[in-house]
Amino acid sequence: MELSPQILAGWLRAFAADIAENEALLTDLDRQIGDADHGANMVRGTTAVAQLDPADFADGRSYVKKAAMTLISTVGGASGPLYGTLLLRLGSALPDDGPIDQAGWLPALRAGVEGVVARGKAGPGDKTMLDALIPAVEAFEAATDQPWQAAAEAAAAGRDATVPMIAHKGRASYLGERSAGVADPGATSSALLIEAAARTLA
Ligand code: ADP
Ligand code: MG
Repeated sequence: MELSPQILAGWLRAFAADIAENEALLTDLDRQIGDADHGANMVRGTTAVAQLDPADFADGRSYVKKAAMTLISTVGGASGPLYGTLLLRLGSALPDDGPIDQAGWLPALRAGVEGVVARGKAGPGDKTMLDALIPAVEAFEAATDQPWQAAAEAAAAGRDATVPMIAHKGRASYLGERSAGVADPGATSSALLIEAAARTLA
């Protein structure tokens, strides 16, 4: 696939549509273990990103960088800077415009997720977006074909695996053991991001 602002905008606009469709779910999950704003936060941010015109950008990297800054300035909450960092690092690690394959995407995905780890100081099992993102990157790397599909399935499984977890980071951690029993909102939105990638970038 040829890397371009248009291709990347296709991904983030699909993500925005999925977020809008799942706003009530994200709000409800965050109502149970947070402050009920994750749906509204993500709709606000992804709507602003969807309004960026890919034709205004010289290359994929500058489009993704602008999308990241847009998320940082519009999402708010803990998740805004984390999603922003994910895309900022991912964008910086993308190759120049041109054909991109599994080997080209892998360092960008890794850099993005490592950025989230560095910024939020969470790890696997802390019941955060990383519980969807880390397995997604591992599955992407391990796949012998259809890496995006493998990543999307791993992200969804990772999201589901957050249900019994006790949160150790973010607002949900204030609940202690009472945070168990519901999927993490950020892991749920992150699974949508990877699923949108599987539909638009594969
Ligand atoms: P807030 O918690 O400020 O209300 P949101 O509701 O938008 O922000 O986002 C909550 C989500 O952010 C959580 O479900 C979790 O996935 C993610 N999150 C919170 N803190 C961290 C962290 N330190 N590292 C990774 N993800 C985090
Ligand atoms: Mg919240």
